[in-house]
Amino acid sequence: MNEEILELECPHCHAAQRVSVPTTVHKLDDPDAYRRILDGTLFEYTCPHCGGKMHVTFGVMFHDPEKRILCFYCPDPNQVKEVMGMFEEKPAGYTVRITEDEGRFLEKIRAFEQGYDDKALEMWKLTYLYQIVSHHEDFEADDALYGYRDGAHKIDFYKEGRYIGSVDADPALIPGVKERFLSRDTGVVQDDLFVDIGWAMEHLTNLLHRPDSAS
Ligand SMILES: [Zn+2]
Repeated sequence: MNEEILELECPHCHAAQRVSVPTTVHKLDDPDAYRRILDGTLFEYTCPHCGGKMHVTFGVMFHDPEKRILCFYCPDPNQVKEVMGMFEEKPAGYTVRITEDEGRFLEKIRAFEQGYDDKALEMWKLTYLYQIVSHHEDFEADDALYGYRDGAHKIDFYKEGRYIGSVDADPALIPGVKERFLSRDTGVVQDDLFVDIGWAMEHLTNLLHRPDSAS
């Protein structure tokens, strides 16, 4: 695990401190950091002075050599450009993703761990969004994240970064969504590095405008 030291101030007691954060998390070599990704606490730290919880933002790369996945969380737009430059040619057999959204970074790695394709995951969330919009025309969400809380699978909807509501969702439908929407090449390959709800909307539009789209 590569690490860097951040100089921070606790938001509660204002004590200055040095926090060591991972810049890479290797699935097999860094089991503790991997567990923190899965339970959603990678970016949470406890102040040693007052015991208060701190949220710490840092860019990080996740590597799963078995499933051949590289996933980057880049909170800094300059970092996004840098990583994009690194992957003009992707390593053979690898799925590479970049996201500027911390929640999406954690969501993707959890989805991969559960054996889901993240493109299918985005399309699955979009089907729920369209179902809601068909009954509530004024429901406007520009993002959706999959979560598991209180023993239930949820899709949480956001508008401009603000949480606006959630629905119960059934992940057992994801393979069917994959079969229906992702079994054909739709020419969206150039946006492969960024797979989010915008990607899903673009993919669906491309599918609907194909001359041979019968479904
Ligand atoms: Zn503190």
